[in-house]
Amino acid sequence: MPSGSELVAFDHSAAGHEGISSNASGSLIIKPCTQAEIDFYESAKDHPLFQAHMPTFIGSLCQNEDQDAVKPLLEAAQPQVQFLQDHASSAGTTAVGKGSEDTGNAVIADSTVTPELVKRASWKPSGGKKISTGLAIVLENVAGGFKRPNVLDVKLGARLWDDDAPLAKRRRLDEVAERTTSGNLGFRVAGMKMWCPPALEDDERSTNTAAAADKKRTAGNGDVQNGGDESDEANVGWKNGYKSYNKLYGQSFSKDNVVDALTTYLGGVGSDDHQPGKTVFKRKRAALIAKRLIRELESIQYALENEESRMYSASVLMVYEGDEEAMEVGLQNEEEEDKRERERQKNGEVETADEDEDDEEDDEDEEIPQKVLEVRLIDFAHASWTPGQGPDENALMGVRSLLRLLKGLVE
Ligand code: ADP
Ligand code: MN
Repeated sequence: MPSGSELVAFDHSAAGHEGISSNASGSLIIKPCTQAEIDFYESAKDHPLFQAHMPTFIGSLCQNEDQDAVKPLLEAAQPQVQFLQDHASSAGTTAVGKGSEDTGNAVIADSTVTPELVKRASWKPSGGKKISTGLAIVLENVAGGFKRPNVLDVKLGARLWDDDAPLAKRRRLDEVAERTTSGNLGFRVAGMKMWCPPALEDDERSTNTAAAADKKRTAGNGDVQNGGDESDEANVGWKNGYKSYNKLYGQSFSKDNVVDALTTYLGGVGSDDHQPGKTVFKRKRAALIAKRLIRELESIQYALENEESRMYSASVLMVYEGDEEAMEVGLQNEEEEDKRERERQKNGEVETADEDEDDEEDDEDEEIPQKVLEVRLIDFAHASWTPGQGPDENALMGVRSLLRLLKGLVE
């Protein structure tokens, strides 16, 4: 078993560059990044409304000779991550505490991780991959706490380039926007990864069901489990029971059919019992997931409308539990937490971190409680705070389009 400070390759990216690592427990990711992204995360503490929708920022790392310095960082981050998990709101809105004061960086300040330790630990990526900036960021893993995370990365904005982008880059990104839904809806699917459980017959025939199902699908005669989308198979790949949709998949949609990408993500619409004007989902929980996504996106919309920021080529990262049984466990956890919360309120109790810790077993290997759904803004390589310039209408355009399409599915 890997020790608490060991790094493993992160296997739940939906899009973007390679080279993301995770700690052994899967609570944190380490991502190569730019100084601008670190700066944005560090200054987000002054923007709690926005920060509540970002992954919790643990710290930044830069490469130097002292390769062992990453270990204390990861080990010291553990209590903090545990605290965040223990205080995650039950509805899956944000992993950061309940009170308005209780935002990510307040937690960091209170924890055993000193800003100095977090700030500049040394880092050497596992596998010796070349990191052009030599910088990396340590973040809460949004896909942690899921057994089979279904991940969707939606890139926001019609304009995708930052003010400092050279003309050639502006032209290239404008051209991509123009031929995709980025241009007319302000968002496009950047990538998606779905757990596609082995078919029942595979279960019966084979002990190595996931591998058998993969093989079958790779051979081209596989039945698509999650809704039978008609995407170009060249834009899709299978690995370890997950189906990955690459960036060309997302680029292939028009404003009139991109809703199909959303229904594929949600588990597909049923065709047999389809009633005119009404969406019937094949996946039992699809409507619940859609409603929660709407709630989360409305909260993101509110934050963006009340902040003055700009982000180019940033994303909304959505994750929900793809394993049906684990999903039920997650929903049950929420119900029990709600019940406890009601009891506490009835008795006029104030929950403290200490009391809550006593509830849990103090075990290093303790698993993250099963989650239902998480939504976060990510990818701030080209993001900044822009006081005086008003809300980010470029990003908001995408959020509003997404909301309109999702609402159309559940109404
Ligand atoms: P880039 O696109 O510049 O490579 P991103 O920040 O978009 O970098 O990250 C790439 C992918 O990694 C995303 O599509 C997402 O699936 C995954 N990812 C990024 N940050 C997190 C996080 N905090 N938790 C879980 N997954 C993440
Ligand atoms: Mn990205």
